[in-house]
Amino acid sequence: MSKRQETCEFKTEVQQMLHLIINSLYSNREIFIRELISNASDAIDKARFKEQTEPALFEKDSDYQIRISTDPEKKIFEISDNGIGMTYDEVNENIGTIAKSGTAAFMEALQNSREENKLSPELIGQFGVGFYSAFIAAEKITLVTKAAGAAKGVKWVSDGKGTYSIEEIDKDARGTTITLELKETGEDEQDFTDEYTVRHIVKKHSDFVTYPIIMNVEKSEPIPENEIIKGADGKPIGETYRKVRKDETLNSMKAIWAKNKDDVTQEEYEEFYRHISHNWDKPLEILHKKFEGVTEYDSLLFIPSKAPFDMFRPERKHGMQLYCKRVFIMDDCKELLPEYLSFIQGVVDAPDLNLNVSREILQEDRLVRNIRKNLVKKIFTTLEEMDKEKFESFYSEFGQALKAGLPTDYENKDRIASLLRYKTTKSDGKYVTLDEYIERMVEGQKDIYYITGENLNALINSPLLETLKAKDYEVLLMVDPVDEWVTQSLHEYKEKKLKSAEKGDLELGDKVDDTKKGEYTALFGFIKGKLEEKVKDVQVSNRLKESVSCLSADDYGMSAYMEKILKATGQDAPVQKRSLELNINHPLIAKMKHIFETDTTNPILKDYSEILLDIAIVSEGGKIDNPSRFSKLVGEIMAKSI
Ligand code: ADP
Repeated sequence: MSKRQETCEFKTEVQQMLHLIINSLYSNREIFIRELISNASDAIDKARFKEQTEPALFEKDSDYQIRISTDPEKKIFEISDNGIGMTYDEVNENIGTIAKSGTAAFMEALQNSREENKLSPELIGQFGVGFYSAFIAAEKITLVTKAAGAAKGVKWVSDGKGTYSIEEIDKDARGTTITLELKETGEDEQDFTDEYTVRHIVKKHSDFVTYPIIMNVEKSEPIPENEIIKGADGKPIGETYRKVRKDETLNSMKAIWAKNKDDVTQEEYEEFYRHISHNWDKPLEILHKKFEGVTEYDSLLFIPSKAPFDMFRPERKHGMQLYCKRVFIMDDCKELLPEYLSFIQGVVDAPDLNLNVSREILQEDRLVRNIRKNLVKKIFTTLEEMDKEKFESFYSEFGQALKAGLPTDYENKDRIASLLRYKTTKSDGKYVTLDEYIERMVEGQKDIYYITGENLNALINSPLLETLKAKDYEVLLMVDPVDEWVTQSLHEYKEKKLKSAEKGDLELGDKVDDTKKGEYTALFGFIKGKLEEKVKDVQVSNRLKESVSCLSADDYGMSAYMEKILKATGQDAPVQKRSLELNINHPLIAKMKHIFETDTTNPILKDYSEILLDIAIVSEGGKIDNPSRFSKLVGEIMAKSI
């Protein structure tokens, strides 16, 4: 078989990205070392995991370590690991193109980022471009690797300027070596071939990495007595110290989740958070807890301060990693937290876990279920105890995720509900909790009222709220699409019903009496006849005070907003007609009634019926069927009445 070998072009996105990374991270160049160490450590994690099931593959070389060496003269920085390695195809896939599903989303985020040509480090961190960061410092990179169990090795070379070459090579040892030919450095710039500099950087960013990071460094050591050249008086006349090269482990390798809280500094936590989350910001909250009881396990969880750009993409990785006695088992561990909390980043180390667990078994595992339950509990307690400002900052980033838990996490429904916050008709732009709402309910008010829609301002001024406002009832203004699902799964809170201001009977206790209603039956029947295809019914309204018309749904019908969301997301919204409600205390309705009773054939009646419907739609921010006809009619009416 002939040797595989090719020269490939980076995808356009890769080139653009490289350019951006180099420019935006320049002031933070040293982080490439952390990124490469992090990849090496991941690769060893994978090797150790595979070793559990295929020990033969690792027999010869299971002394896991990461090695760094430098050559100041040749301006070389080199890092190698004896981790899992990569096959030819894996190199092409992982290093030649930008990682996986993220690409499209990344370019999207890029386009949305206001600062042109400047990417925030957090953004980069989210896309798994770690390896490429090496081009900040390197002119040319050579990657040589051999996958566990593979017959051949692979060599990949690139100057990061458009193309890379890749070829099959002979290689003995498993693992990966990455050689950076460094760019010229300016006077006041860090020199990454300087041992002291490298040692310092490793200590700062990668101290907790669980495998030894070894560098062969120059050291001074005393020359043994018998080798020292001495004068006649027995005193040394030559050197008493000499320079030797020795292996030194640069990191302390402490798994910080296993440490005592008091022994971990804030900086260590933050650095670890960056390591596991690939985020570059600080975590909003750190939850470090040793669970003790029938089984013991360590957990270290972080609530990020910013929501990831792809929070709701199904292909997004979960933030939890599972360890067993400090051996990495898996990342993206979906079993440790429910889907809606997948933005939480962290580690669980459970010594009692069976090391050969597969994902399928994991789901059934009682211990894992127990851990999950306790973690969720801990997260809720933390959120409940946060001060207002911090919680609101969390809520503005992750409120949507939390809400998504309502329909799925039945057990914690009440706890989620008590964390919800909404702006209301009375809160002056501030958030109100459901408990606060209940406390503020006015005399005679039985239920919690809400309205959903897209635009806060339109909601506050919605005609649907007129009666509620007149009664001084507060109304929750729900402007998040996820709120539609909230209202569908949360029918009650602390024994108070949640009632939509636009649905069903508001049960306000002051109904229009039937005789009065009866007077309008004929007119409303007529209007309904004119609007037959568009409305379900025409009714006397008890929602309206000043406005003349509005649309309402049945108790179990779909809100206008829900319909809009479904349409916007391309889903089939079942055609459902709503009822046109008319305000019989409005002079217009009285006048229409009069005309109807004296001259049923008057064309005004049909025109006005249509306008009544259009006004109702416009007042909820909806789109009317025939805007030009509407404006023509209104123009005519205005001309007549002037
Ligand atoms: P990320 O680490 O965020 O996935 P990188 O660009 O740093 O993104 O790496 C891309 C992929 O290349 C990794 O996911 C991994 O599969 C592979 N890789 C990188 N470095 C190594 C290494 N030292 N050993 C084995 N595989 C590696």
